[in-house]
Amino acid sequence: MKITVLGSGSAYGVPYAGGGWGACDPKQPRNKRTTPAIFIDDGTTSVLVDMGPDVKEQLARHNISKWDATFFTHPHADHIAGMFHLPILMSHRDGKHLPMYVDRATRKDIEKVWWYMFDPAIKLEYTGAARPYWVEMIPPEKMKIGTLDIQTFWQMHGRIQSVGMKLGKFAYSTDVNDFPPESEEHLYGLDVWMVDCNCLTGTDKSHSYVEKSVAWAQKFGVKKTYLTHLDYTIDYDSVSKMLPAGVELAYDGLVIEI
Ligand SMILES: [Zn+2]
Ligand SMILES: [Zn+2]
Repeated sequence: MKITVLGSGSAYGVPYAGGGWGACDPKQPRNKRTTPAIFIDDGTTSVLVDMGPDVKEQLARHNISKWDATFFTHPHADHIAGMFHLPILMSHRDGKHLPMYVDRATRKDIEKVWWYMFDPAIKLEYTGAARPYWVEMIPPEKMKIGTLDIQTFWQMHGRIQSVGMKLGKFAYSTDVNDFPPESEEHLYGLDVWMVDCNCLTGTDKSHSYVEKSVAWAQKFGVKKTYLTHLDYTIDYDSVSKMLPAGVELAYDGLVIEI
């Protein structure tokens, strides 16, 4: 199974709008971060996890024009704003409809933001015969998407919950500030864990930060942890030096084979 980090940035990416780099050195290419998303592909089934505002650029970089399912972790703008491109993306699918996995609250919020996509009175212009459609997931549901077995679990994310996913010995936990005890059981003994580390210190209460994410990785005994959803306070070189063995920063374009 191949995991590609399409975007390792936090909501505003690095540099953020207007060109601000914060603590990040603009000369280090790994500091250039687009909005958070990953692509999972086992050679038979592929899943796009989240469609943020940079999705068009991310798909182009990796030559991705179609995939088998989209998975939404939660309805914040940095994870759904790229849905704008769905009608044109349908042109690559040879008429094959696109399932979009969401929990009920996320679907409700997405339908509020992208109301025109789901209003039958509006004749949205799709290209081709394929259409996106919802598949509701109810964490901690175990799902099968094609050949991929996915264990879902709830994560605390400020005032809302996000959905984490585990596939074999890999898990993806973006946008999280804490885990309910029943979700923690899915995180012990992972080979690879990709987890939220929005800031250098605990300045954003709905996300994690370096010390907290490292402590989780050690508590759960994860072999290799990649910190992601990184904002402009996380300079690649200086923060990498602070991390213990087995913990690294993710970056755009990172590919992991599991
Ligand atoms: Zn986010
Ligand atoms: Zn979020």
